[in-house]
Amino acid sequence: MRILWFCIPAYGHTNPTIEVVRELAWRGHRIRYYSFEEFRERIEAAGAQFVSCDKFLPPIDSNAERRLRKVSTTEMSVQSFRTVARLDPVISADVEAWQPDVIVSDSACFWGKLSALKHNLPWVCSTTTFAFNRYSAKYMETSASELADMVLGLPRMNREIRKLRQLGYHVKSALDVVQNKPDDYTIVYTSRTFQPSSETFDDEHYRFVGPSVHDVAPREKDGQPLVYVSLGTVINDRPGFYHTCIDALRDANVDLLISCGKAFDPAQLGTLPANVRVEQYVDQMDVLSRASLFITHCGMNSASEGMWMDVPELLFPLTGEQRAVARRVAEVGAGIPLDANMAKEPAKLREAILAALVNNELAAGSARMRDDLRSCAGPTGAADFIEYVAALGTSN
Ligand code: UDP
Repeated sequence: MRILWFCIPAYGHTNPTIEVVRELAWRGHRIRYYSFEEFRERIEAAGAQFVSCDKFLPPIDSNAERRLRKVSTTEMSVQSFRTVARLDPVISADVEAWQPDVIVSDSACFWGKLSALKHNLPWVCSTTTFAFNRYSAKYMETSASELADMVLGLPRMNREIRKLRQLGYHVKSALDVVQNKPDDYTIVYTSRTFQPSSETFDDEHYRFVGPSVHDVAPREKDGQPLVYVSLGTVINDRPGFYHTCIDALRDANVDLLISCGKAFDPAQLGTLPANVRVEQYVDQMDVLSRASLFITHCGMNSASEGMWMDVPELLFPLTGEQRAVARRVAEVGAGIPLDANMAKEPAKLREAILAALVNNELAAGSARMRDDLRSCAGPTGAADFIEYVAALGTSN
């Protein structure tokens, strides 16, 4: 079988697909994976043929850059629609020449979803967040500024959509692309237990396969407990928060490891206490295998990886999507929200951390979620589902 795979340039969206690609390649399927140079190595190592999309990203000016840094949905959508147009000749020629049996596209990757529709190919949506419909969407606490950005941005998005129609994409509205239809075939990298309103998603179209992680065996936790802090790979430029964490655990009988992201120079944090280490990027699964507590921004992957490795979490979400994940982690008992004061005042944060390290109820919730996530079908279940959808063809 020939599979065209599409993803956006983001670790959180790419990482969960890697083990699924490895499984499909192992089964003898051929995969052409459209992605970005940063991810080439891991995609090729998983057994797919890599197609580089970097040069097709539209050029952006400083205004757009500023809006993207603030995670503006409108700006991300406008840039994505432009990428669809720029990639159109390449993808159309590839579809014509290679005759794929199925397309797999990340839920936020417009050029994948729209190519499947334009070329009338069966497609599977790869969803690295929650599956969304009008019930689960209630979990997204959209802030006033996020809402204003979306509403005010509609005319700009519609202008881009009109251009796409001229290229043969039958798109009615921006919402049409952003949201999936209930009968789109969708892989979700979590369990039914963790998915909000999971009873509103049917078994025919939705496969909750659990986190797709490169597993690492938990290690003996000898010595001082390790507290691991990461705000993920996108919005992590938060020196104030890192300072609070360092001051909170200065002189404590606890080790602290902060992954601060590649955009931030750890030297800016000054001389560090002996029990503190700051890195721009770590092997997160390896760190979690020896951590006792995870202070996380609640990206879906990080929150899931923490639960998978049975590491209780302190929750510090920064966006609407992360707030939804944080709410769910707290509901299933695997994490405790950090309130705004704790994130600013070292003494309060220290109290919260030390209390969490000896919280038996939290430890039990975390262990429950480890067992739940590990009981899912995983990458083999995701690969089965892609084979199933390809076999259905476009008649459905
Ligand atoms: N990650 C990592 N090392 C780091 C920071 C992040 O390996 O130092 C990985 C992490 O394991 C996860 C992904 O990057 O798989 C981040 O995805 P997530 O959805 O948590 O957050 P995002 O970066 O998209 O906000």
